[in-house]
Amino acid sequence: MDLNIAGKRALVCASSKGLGRGCAEALAEAGCALVMNARSAGPLEAAAKEISAAHGVEVTAVAADIVDPAGRAEVLEAAGAVDILVTNAGGPPPGYWTDWDRDDFIDALDGNMLTPIALMQALVPGMIERGWGRVVNITSRSVKAPLLPLGLSNSARAGLTGFTAGTSRQIASKGVTINNLLPGVHDTARIDQMDDAMAEQQGISREDARRIRAEGIPAGRYGDPGEFGKMCAFLCSDHAGYIVGQNIVLDGGETFATI
Ligand code: NAP
Repeated sequence: MDLNIAGKRALVCASSKGLGRGCAEALAEAGCALVMNARSAGPLEAAAKEISAAHGVEVTAVAADIVDPAGRAEVLEAAGAVDILVTNAGGPPPGYWTDWDRDDFIDALDGNMLTPIALMQALVPGMIERGWGRVVNITSRSVKAPLLPLGLSNSARAGLTGFTAGTSRQIASKGVTINNLLPGVHDTARIDQMDDAMAEQQGISREDARRIRAEGIPAGRYGDPGEFGKMCAFLCSDHAGYIVGQNIVLDGGETFATI
């Protein structure tokens, strides 16, 4: 299927690795020019070169912390007017609900709620003026069903979800859509860290931790960042203009819910 977005310009935040990179790859495959971002310049520049060479599109790499206001300003300056925005950043650390103080909550809100909101506030007005735009926020399946050690993530991402539920409907008639993608377990560096933590806790190998985790997923496997990216590209496509304010779970069936 032609997604009909060749030539559009997309900003994909936190995209040198993992789910962000999957989204950048799929948008490049659809013919979009990219602005990619991550904090470490080396892996970001390598990813940008690989994607540009594989898909023949222009890729601008901006090494900056998207959560830091100065870093975000640098990214926005390089991005200019974009048609597509994919928001993403690292997730908050795990813990127990009594562990966290106000500063921990502020950090989580900054990373996983206020940063995507600031990016939308900066870029969506231009999309509205031009009459076409797509925003996809990478959130988490913890929005549908809480993940017990991830209380900071559960809280901050619920705030973003509330914001997008209202805002997406305020702007839908302008040709601009906002939707959220809710990943479950995907094969990325973040999950490697969680598998290592589980392996250490239970005195087992990472392979065993991975096998046990995969057995708990109805699909029987981890998700692939490439397939996640293709769903993102579809939501950013010309065909997805009637999908508004949705929360789409990509988790191999792990969240047990009827709707
Ligand atoms: P990942 O494989 O660790 O990749 C994270 C990417 O984001 C890297 O490119 C990293 O590069 C960049 N990054 C992190 N913090 C950044 C910042 N402040 N500014 C700019 N770039 C930043 O992680 P992932 O698994 O793709 O996860 C992406 C998001 O999805 C996270 O919020 C995670 O909590 C959420 N999530 C993931 C899963 C999963 O199974 N993977 C499940 C649910 C939710 P640098 O380190 O160089 O900045």
